[in-house]
Amino acid sequence: MKLLSVIVPCYNEEENVPFFYEEFLKNELYFKEKGIDWEILYVDDGSKDNTAEEVRKLHISDERVHLLSFSRNFGKEAAMYAGMEKAKGDYVVIMDADLQDPPSLLPEMFAGLEEGYDSVATRRVTRKGEPAIRSFFARMFYRLMKKISRTEIMDGARDYRLMNRKMVDAILSMQEYNRFTKGIFGWVGFQTKWLEFENVKRLKGETKWNFWKLLWYSIDGITAFSTAPLSFAAVMGVLFCVLAFVLILFIIVRTLIFGDPVSGWPSLVCILSLISGVQLFCLGILGQYLAKTYMEVKKRPIYLLKEEL
Ligand code: UDP
Ligand code: MG
Repeated sequence: MKLLSVIVPCYNEEENVPFFYEEFLKNELYFKEKGIDWEILYVDDGSKDNTAEEVRKLHISDERVHLLSFSRNFGKEAAMYAGMEKAKGDYVVIMDADLQDPPSLLPEMFAGLEEGYDSVATRRVTRKGEPAIRSFFARMFYRLMKKISRTEIMDGARDYRLMNRKMVDAILSMQEYNRFTKGIFGWVGFQTKWLEFENVKRLKGETKWNFWKLLWYSIDGITAFSTAPLSFAAVMGVLFCVLAFVLILFIIVRTLIFGDPVSGWPSLVCILSLISGVQLFCLGILGQYLAKTYMEVKKRPIYLLKEEL
């Protein structure tokens, strides 16, 4: 028998926990046929509702259901890492608790592994039911990442992915604190098959990602998988030096020919504020990388457990 570990990050998902379990069980027949045992690891990411209690109830009736409870909210990235660390399975799959990652795709995903792939990943081809500006910025993010990062990050990719042990161990070997799993998946390589599906609406509750949280998340992604913004700062520096040199020559020649009537105060102010803006912007970029480095060298644990069932 092979073992499948299902990792379900949950943050305030009390309503969805039992539904997820039921929906997942619909694959039971398929798993029996294939000789696959399974375990579900609900990772309670410091929920403020009764998520942990709901999982405990399931655990009592079915010992294949496990609970990992964080001491506070550490974020989905930490939840996925914790799940992978504790998973005993030969295969691991990560799924959202809100059923936006349909369990009915699992047989098709296993078929991919049988074809010899190391992992089968999913991506949404539509973003129906999502606010338009959110989709717009998401598209922009993926387009930018394609340009500035050598790591492949697929547009619309979800964290819903079935992997074999080899790939899970590779991901676990990346111990970084600033985790951006969508990038890590691409970075470790291995053969990946992509399945596409239409966006499914969240079953119950609300999304935990507002616009600002997503914006910060995208900055995490950029700093984790590209150093292009740092080069951008350097290029800006060179460009402005060249510009300044040309301007100096121009002013000297003009003064020699036309004398020196004192004027140009408005243009001076404009140039000054433009350049200090660019300078602060570049300093900000530098600051972002410094902050990430700072967090990284502290070597803080990625998550802390309060309870394990
Ligand atoms: N999640 C989590 N910790 C967080 C935020 C979210 O574990 O801090 C979980 C959440 O419970 C869900 C999954 O991550 O199972 C995806 O979150 P959500 O559905 O809110 O995101 P969306 O699908 O809207 O992108
Ligand atoms: Mg969701």
